This record gives sequence, C-alpha cells and structure tokens, in this order.
Amino acid sequence: MSVSVSSRLVYNCCLAYPERIDTEWLDKNPGRLFHTDTMLKDRKLMLQNKSCESCHWGCYKYEEQGLKSTRTSIKHVKIKDIESPLKNLQISLSTDCNLMCAYCQPEWSSAWHRDIVKNGEIVLDGSSINKSNWSTLWNKMKQKNRSTDTKFFSLLLREIELATSLEQITLLGGEPLLNNMLSTLIENINDKEVIIVTGLGVSKKRLQSFLSTVKNKKLVFNVSGESTGANFEFLRFGCEWEDYCDKIKIISDSGHQVKFASTMNNISLLDFPNFYDKFSKDYKIECSMVRERPFMLPHVLDDISKEKIIDWMMSHEDKQKFMLFVDSIKNVPDEKSRVNLANYMGQMSKRRGVDYNFLPNHFRNWYSSPSI
Ligand code: SF4
Repeated sequence: MSVSVSSRLVYNCCLAYPERIDTEWLDKNPGRLFHTDTMLKDRKLMLQNKSCESCHWGCYKYEEQGLKSTRTSIKHVKIKDIESPLKNLQISLSTDCNLMCAYCQPEWSSAWHRDIVKNGEIVLDGSSINKSNWSTLWNKMKQKNRSTDTKFFSLLLREIELATSLEQITLLGGEPLLNNMLSTLIENINDKEVIIVTGLGVSKKRLQSFLSTVKNKKLVFNVSGESTGANFEFLRFGCEWEDYCDKIKIISDSGHQVKFASTMNNISLLDFPNFYDKFSKDYKIECSMVRERPFMLPHVLDDISKEKIIDWMMSHEDKQKFMLFVDSIKNVPDEKSRVNLANYMGQMSKRRGVDYNFLPNHFRNWYSSPSI
C-alpha cells in the first residue's frame, strides 16, 4: 500500500482511490494507519471479488469498458486476513520535482504542473496533458497545510515503528531527494530495506550532502533512465546526461546499490542499446512499458526504426528479457497515435526551444508526414 505525506492520503493498493487521513483520529488510534475502517471494508469486498469505490477508480471502471485492468492481468498472492500485517510500503513524500520527463504529468511532478500553468495545456486527440483538479488541489494543499503535514509525518514515523512486520519501504516523489524530511525518515527506519526511486533531478552538492547523512545505512537507489546523450536530455528534461552519469558514480562510490528502471517507449528505443550496453555489465536494469502516453508506446515507430531495434534485441545475449517488447514493437500503429506524436513533438519543441537533430531522419519524416 502507499501513503502520500504531503496530502495525507493513503491508498489501499497502488491504483486505488485514496482516503484522506484525519490526524486527530490517527493520533488516538495508534497502529491503525494501514488498517482504517474504510480499508477493512474494501478488503472484505475484494475477497468477495466485488467492486468498491476505491477499486472502481483503478480497475473496475476499465473492465466495464471491456478493457484489461491491473486486477485481472497481474497474478496476485491472495491474502485472506483483512488485518494481515503490512510487509511493503510505498511512501510518496511530495510531488516536488525539477524534471519534466516526457511521459510524466502534472499530478506527479511540480515542474510539469508549473509548465502547464505557464504555457497552457498540451492539446492532443484523447491524450491531452493538463493540470487536473487533482494536481491543482495537491499543489494548494502543500502550501496551506504545512503544519498539518508535519504532524502527519511524525505520526507516520510512529506507525512505521509499530508495523513490526514491515520488510521493505520504497520512497517515491516527485523527486524524493529534494525532500528535506528524507534523512529524518531514513534515520527512523531500522531493519528494513529502503529503496529510493529517483530521477536524480538534484544537484551533485545536494546529493553528496544527503549521502553524508546516511553513511551508516545501506540504501538501494532505483534510478530512472533508458537512453543516453541528447535523447536522454529530451526524455528526462531538466537533467543533463554527463551530470547524471557523474551522480551514478557518486552513489556507487559511496557504497549504496544502484539499479535502473527503464521505461520503454518509442523515443527511448532509438537509443536504448547505447544505454543498455553502457550500464548492464555493472548494474541491474529492469524494463517496463510506458503507461501514460499511448502515442509513445514502443510500436509507434517507422518500419526502419522497428527493424533496427528488433534486430538488436533478437541478437542480444539478454534476448529473453526483451521478447515482450519485440512483440509490442511489431504491432501496427494507428493514424491517431502517429498524429498525436507529431503534435506532441511539435508542441514540446516550441516550449523547450529544442530541435530534434538527435533523432533519425526516417523517424522524424515518418511521424511528421501529412495524414493520408
Ligand atoms: S523524475 Fe519522476 S516525478 Fe519527476 S518528472 Fe520524472 S517521472 Fe515525473
């Protein structure tokens, strides 16, 4: 389950609709943050394979449209006790982030939120990027409720201490390394694996200063990245490639574990072989599919690009790991995705003042050719 500190929201699972926690209630009910009355009621319905408001938000509403949901497509271990102690917890400290990754959005990154407020929404056919009520509310809440956040944070530390079966805590953002509470939180976590999910959108100075505060801990840094050079700087806008590589070295040299999380999408695939060959000998790289931008799915590519990347994957010694993506790349893109991609690239180029010389001509000509 997940907790968002800045908004005092708890999620019964990663896709569930959240519940807002009343700090006075939590103060009087120690040990109940991960077992609120609403959660227990929802878990009962889950075991009966019935929908509830929270599950409808993340899964059932998709199933009603005949689509697959996470609930139906992932094999879960069934836990029958609704009071079962929590083993894994994800904590989102805030949505503060300096980066605007190409497939992120205002709900998760304050830099994206600011960009949409300043430059207006990115209008696309069915996939527009706008500041939802959700992100606006979150940004307002952060300003207004700072004192409450502090109280919630200390109560959360108490809840973690009481959750003796907890084995792993994953810290998320935005960018967790920007959060001033990070060291305090880690200091208070004993005998549990701590994973920091980061895009490394912080200065070297800040990173080094953070590392000096956690010298006696062994942390896992799960770093986002999937391409190199100018391709990386487009996808992970706000972070420079050379600076990123330096920061990876700083973390490794300080004795913490580094793993990579690569989000496979059409743009990154044009350079993914360089990223993989650079890091895969020394680090574990886990690949997952892009989720939020249909026009950035791996198959929304021209035929020459597809052939090149499939050839590379099929001849690689780690070929088995890539089979899911090979199958996905082989799908035929629809016209709507190609046009949305062209519009997105056009709008991003104007906002950022960048050209796309780093992309192969055959790909640029393909997505920008007129509709038939
Ligand atoms: S680093 Fe994470 S939160 Fe920030 S823009 Fe990238 S994906 Fe979004």
